[in-house]
Amino acid sequence: MAAAVEPHSSLYDTIVVGAGIQGSFTAYHLAKRGGETLLLDQFPLPHSRGSSHGQSRIIRRAYPQEHYAQMMAESYRLWEQLEAEAGASLYRQTGLLVLGANANPEFQRCCRTLVKHNVPGELFTTESLHRRFPGIQPYHGEVGVSDHTAGVLSADRALRAVQTLRINVCYWKEKVPGAYGVSANFPCFLALCAPHHIYGLPSNEYPGLVKICYHSGSPADPEERDRPPEASALPDIQILQDFVSKYLPGLVPEPAVVEHCMYTNTPDEDFVLDRHPKFSNIIIGAGFSGHGFKLAPVVGKLLCQLSVGEEPSYAMEPFRIHRFPGLPAPAL
Ligand SMILES: Cc1cc2nc3c(=O)[nH]c(=O)nc-3n(C[C@H](O)[C@H](O)[C@H](O)COP(=O)(O)OP(=O)(O)OC[C@H]3O[C@@H](n4cnc5c(N)ncnc54)[C@H](O)[C@@H]3O)c2cc1C
Repeated sequence: MAAAVEPHSSLYDTIVVGAGIQGSFTAYHLAKRGGETLLLDQFPLPHSRGSSHGQSRIIRRAYPQEHYAQMMAESYRLWEQLEAEAGASLYRQTGLLVLGANANPEFQRCCRTLVKHNVPGELFTTESLHRRFPGIQPYHGEVGVSDHTAGVLSADRALRAVQTLRINVCYWKEKVPGAYGVSANFPCFLALCAPHHIYGLPSNEYPGLVKICYHSGSPADPEERDRPPEASALPDIQILQDFVSKYLPGLVPEPAVVEHCMYTNTPDEDFVLDRHPKFSNIIIGAGFSGHGFKLAPVVGKLLCQLSVGEEPSYAMEPFRIHRFPGLPAPAL
C-alpha cells in the first residue's frame, strides 16, 4: 500500500486530484523534478471505486491511431524504468491478436502502424488463423494481425509501485469540490472467459480462465456504482456470452466471475489532456475511454509538462478540450 501521510506543508507547487494510475503517474513525474507535490484522493487507497484497480491491463503497440502508436514506444520504456526503480516485475509479455474484417479501415490502420513502427508480428488469413489458433473460430471470415510485444500489466502492483515512489499521498476524506476526477459514467463488463482483441491471457489470477472485456455497456451513475446491476445490464452479459459461443467455441460461455467496471468515455475515445479554458493554473486529464492504463507513464509526463509550462513532448491536438465545442459550461 502507498505510504499515506498527513500533508506536511500548507504550500505545494502542485496538487494532483485523483490517485488513479493517471494522477499517480502525474505526481510521480512532478515529484521527480523536485517540486513539492501532493496527491489527493477521496477514498483511502487502495480502493476499487475508480478505473485503475484489478489484476491485469493489456499493454500493446497495436493501435490504429498514429498518435498512440508513437506514445507507446516511450510508454514501454517508462514502464521498464518503473520496474527497475520499484524492484518489481509489472509486465508479462504474452502477445496479442487483433481480429477484424480485412476491409475494416480501423483494422487496416492498425496493420499500417505496426509496420511503420517495426513492431514484430504476423498477418493471418481466415484459414491460417484457425490453423494456428484452433480455439478461435473466425465467425464472419475475419483475418488477424498479431503484436508480439503486447502483454499484461499487473494493475494493482503497478499502481502501488508508482504511488510508493517519491510521492506524498494524502487521503482527502471528501470529494475535492468541483473536481470530477476521472471516475466514470460508462461501465464496462468484465467477464472471465476478448472481443476484437484476443490476448494470450489464461491468467495467473484465475488459472484456466480467460478474461474477456466488453468495452461498452449501459450508462451508470458513478455515485451509484455499488447498486446491483439493473435489468439493462443483462443484455450486456448476453452479448459477451454470444461472443464467446461464436468465436471461442471451446470455452464455457457462462462467466465464472462478472465485474461491473467504470470507464469514462469521450465521444471520440481520445483522451482529454489540456489546460482549463478559463483557469490556466488547472490542468485536466480525463476521458481515458477504457484504454488509458498502458499509456499512463506518458500521460503523466504530458500532464506534468503542461502544469510546469513546458512544451509537451507530443502533438496535443488530438487531446484538446476544444474539439468538443458543444461542451456545456457546467461540465468544466
Ligand atoms: C475493467 C477495465 C479494463 C480495462 N482494460 C484496460 C486495458 O486492458 N488496457 C488499458 O490500457 N486500459 C484499460 N482500462 C482503462 C484504464 O484502466 C483507465 O483508463 C485508467 O485506469 C484510468 O485511470 P484514471 O486515473 O484516469 O482513473 P481512476 O482510476 O478512476 O482514478 C480517479 C481517481 O480520482 C478520485 N476522484 C475522483 N473524483 C474526485 C474528487 N472530486 N476528489 C478527490 N478524488 C476524486 C477517485 O476516487 C479515483 O481514485 C480498463 C479499465 C477498466 C475499468
